[in-house]
Amino acid sequence: MGWPYHLLDLTHEQKHERRLLLDRYGIYAQLSALIPILAYQLYRLGVWVYSERKRSKASYSAIPSSPTLKRSRASTAGNFASKWRSTVWWLEGELATGWSSRGQFIAAGVWTSWLLFLCVQNTGEDYLHITKRFGVVAASQFPVHYMLSMKSQYSPLAFVFRSSHEQLNAWHRISGRIIHFLLLCHAVWYVNYFVQAGVVKKRLSDPVVIVGIIAFLLLNIIATTSLELVRRWSYRVFFVLHLMIGLWMLPLLFFHASALRVYVIEALVLFLFDIACRNLDTVTGFATVTMVPHTKLIKLKVPIPASKIRRFQAKPGQHVYLSIPPASRPLLSSSPWIHDFLFNPFTVAEVSPTDITLVLRTLRGPTTKALGGLAQLSKATPPIKIEGPLGCSQRFPNFAANYDRVLLVAGGVGSTFILPIYLNTREQMAAEGKSLDHVKLVWSMRSAAEAIWAVDSERKHAIAEDKNIKIFLTRSQADDQEHPDKSIPVDGSVELDELQWTEEPVEATGGRDRPDLGKIVDETFRHGNAERVAVLVCGPKQMARELRGHVGKWVEKGRDVYFHNESFGW
Ligand SMILES: Cc1cc2nc3c(=O)[nH]c(=O)nc-3n(C[C@H](O)[C@H](O)[C@H](O)COP(=O)(O)OP(=O)(O)OC[C@H]3O[C@@H](n4cnc5c(N)ncnc54)[C@H](O)[C@@H]3O)c2cc1C
Repeated sequence: MGWPYHLLDLTHEQKHERRLLLDRYGIYAQLSALIPILAYQLYRLGVWVYSERKRSKASYSAIPSSPTLKRSRASTAGNFASKWRSTVWWLEGELATGWSSRGQFIAAGVWTSWLLFLCVQNTGEDYLHITKRFGVVAASQFPVHYMLSMKSQYSPLAFVFRSSHEQLNAWHRISGRIIHFLLLCHAVWYVNYFVQAGVVKKRLSDPVVIVGIIAFLLLNIIATTSLELVRRWSYRVFFVLHLMIGLWMLPLLFFHASALRVYVIEALVLFLFDIACRNLDTVTGFATVTMVPHTKLIKLKVPIPASKIRRFQAKPGQHVYLSIPPASRPLLSSSPWIHDFLFNPFTVAEVSPTDITLVLRTLRGPTTKALGGLAQLSKATPPIKIEGPLGCSQRFPNFAANYDRVLLVAGGVGSTFILPIYLNTREQMAAEGKSLDHVKLVWSMRSAAEAIWAVDSERKHAIAEDKNIKIFLTRSQADDQEHPDKSIPVDGSVELDELQWTEEPVEATGGRDRPDLGKIVDETFRHGNAERVAVLVCGPKQMARELRGHVGKWVEKGRDVYFHNESFGW
């Protein structure tokens, strides 16, 4: 079989026909985003029907070991549900250490194949048709791509997928790679055409082509600076370029080809809508910023208007985006303007009737550095901008009502997420009339200093006297000697100052070694085969990965598990 595509000399009518097909396939590609949306709604409906039927059958006997529940587990539907859970668990696992999940790879493969099909279908032998088709199909994905990056609480995709912006962000990255691949095909096929037709010089002076080349170069800059390597090197470089180029791209595409304009306008409207909603959801409060003694932690108390505080109180474990307005920026900074582009996520560690408290590590970046400077001004109450609350914890189920046991694992500053959830789940358990011993908290930290932010508050006694909280203090003298200058990790563990305690603020109730996560998980699950267990973790990546591995063994045995890993970086 020979190469199917050729440079054809088309009549005016044939060109018109090609134009219509290009438009039609662009619309098909865009509308096909409805397929996963509808599939997900059907899936949710199926889950709801299944759980309602199960609930009505088991309603007279909610005891996990009851004969009714045992029979229902052994039934065909019970077996299917257990296999389904194992499959979902497998799909949610990393393809390889540090990579995206298997499910995301499979979805990306399926979506790319579908879009490639739309690029090829009905193009006949016309080389220029398939070349243009790559461009139109890629551009048709722009609105969904921008929608996946929306952070406002009114993000349509967060609503239909019952998701949150940080979860959608993973799909935004995948969609970006697919668009990049299609536009790469578009550009390469066009360049080949210019060479084959001997029109390189002529076409390279055409404004439409020049605009296309600039847009393609910018796209490559976005793709390169989005790599994890660059994001780790400088989040600012990634973020500022991403924002600026993402915006410049739209007018360039608008002038590159008229067929793309509808997609450009849709993407721009979504972008502006997101910015407007986010601005409306941002408040400025005069914050109290203090250093937590002997640590590199800062405690930030920000007043929140009464009209908004209820949203913070509604769910524990939410986060906010913090930015530093001009009045609070360091005077000696060489680039104070950088803060116009920065907003950093921090978990709400405490909520009172009037304000929220954040606990954050000072790292080497501009935001935490500037806050570190503000913490030195003991009497100042600098204005700080707070956007939110946001986060997937808004959609967490009621753990006490839906699960028999809850295991919470925190590493270092990950406790800002886990501790409020622990306290809230205890309240829920009490309200449900269940034993408080069914909620366990494992909190691992290098030094007791990391817990000061929690124990110097009203919670002090609750934490000290609670036998369901196991604290592991893992820093040894050998550790300090081996790693005196260890760089500060960004994923949940905390580096602390040298410190001599007269009395440690918390006791090592779990021990002075790392927690044996395998043993802790097994103890949680061994109470009964029918028990549903929720496991939540926030801490260093390695800890979350290890915990997931141990929990996975129980999922494979058919156990019904809710697992959430809150990551402090994406
Ligand atoms: C949901 C969430 C909750 C968090 N909660 C806490 C907390 O309670 N306490 C705490 O100490 N740290 C928390 N972090 C980590 C915290 O955001 C970073 O440590 C902080 O932004 C670093 O700021 P910087 O100015 O020092 O450095 P930068 O150079 O600005 O950033 C360093 C790293 O922080 C992360 N980061 C910065 N800005 C963003 C952003 N807009 N979106 C996503 N990631 C970003 C990136 O991983 C980046 O590489 C949380 C992170 C996330 C994603």
